[in-house]
Amino acid sequence: MTTQKIGFIGLGNMGAPMAHNLAEAGYDVVGFDTAGTTAEGVASAKSALEAVRDADFVITMLPNGAILRSVAADILEGMKQGAVLIDCSTVDVESARDVAEMAHAQGAGFVDAPVSGGVGGASAGTLTFMAGGTDNAFAGAAPLFEVMGQKAVHCGTAGAGQAAKICNNMILGATMIVTCEAFALADKLGLDRQKMFDVVSTSSGYSWSMNAYCPAPGIGPSSPADNGYAPGFAAELMLKDLGLSQQAAEAADADTPMGALARELYATFVEEEDGRGKDFSAMLPRLEGRSRQG
Ligand code: NAD
Repeated sequence: MTTQKIGFIGLGNMGAPMAHNLAEAGYDVVGFDTAGTTAEGVASAKSALEAVRDADFVITMLPNGAILRSVAADILEGMKQGAVLIDCSTVDVESARDVAEMAHAQGAGFVDAPVSGGVGGASAGTLTFMAGGTDNAFAGAAPLFEVMGQKAVHCGTAGAGQAAKICNNMILGATMIVTCEAFALADKLGLDRQKMFDVVSTSSGYSWSMNAYCPAPGIGPSSPADNGYAPGFAAELMLKDLGLSQQAAEAADADTPMGALARELYATFVEEEDGRGKDFSAMLPRLEGRSRQG
């Protein structure tokens, strides 16, 4: 069996460990990043185009949809016929769909496959992939998802992976805020935080935010709250995802008032207060220091 070749574009916090895991698993991986970053076991190319030449799969892990579009425009013509472009970045649904069309027009396959699991999951190879694309393209990409992650869900046609990701994170953002609000309210009512956790985590208010990632220090399983709110999942990344869900809601004419408010609160926290660089669960210290007047 010949070794399959992978071009990997975007070797940042997430991309570098993902590319490394593929190289460890025996793939021939060539990487490129405009910042000159590298990953262990991964050969470095001088350009994106050079990284994708002869590749059976090209993976992108980039900051946003505009950059994805420009990278796709640069590389698609240079990709081998029948190769598959797998975009693991979190981008807007429209960019994912447009890049899928660009890829198909060049005879390449496309899968949008944003991830959940963060830098820890990328390093450990335990990410969850939410994928959109044709059955064929998904089947081709599946062995790579197995190396980089623990689960891949084929959500539908191109863009469906991004749709799943932003819907999930809209729920997460709003749920985290209300979980923090409830702790701040409990404090003012004289309710012990541990008792509140014991009740809510086994009652109808339970959620991942409460049970697995409790924003109150010293309560529940270990979480960024126990580490001074160092991320974890940074507030600015949550703001990005909430922005994408509002952009999608506008385009689809969907009424999402809680998602809109969650976006507004994270925007204030990150852009006007001290939220940048903190975990998104740091909404709790923000709220506990406030009154109804602000
Ligand atoms: P990052 O900023 O660390 O990495 C992005 C990399 O892309 C950088 O190294 C940058 O130099 C490179 N880059 C930018 N433009 C480029 C270009 N034109 N060509 C080649 N390389 C280019 O970001 P990250 O944390 O690795 O996140 C990557 C993506 O994954 C984002 O879309 C993010 O929303 C998503 N994501 C991140 C996390 C997380 O916890 N960090 C979790 C889930 C999803």
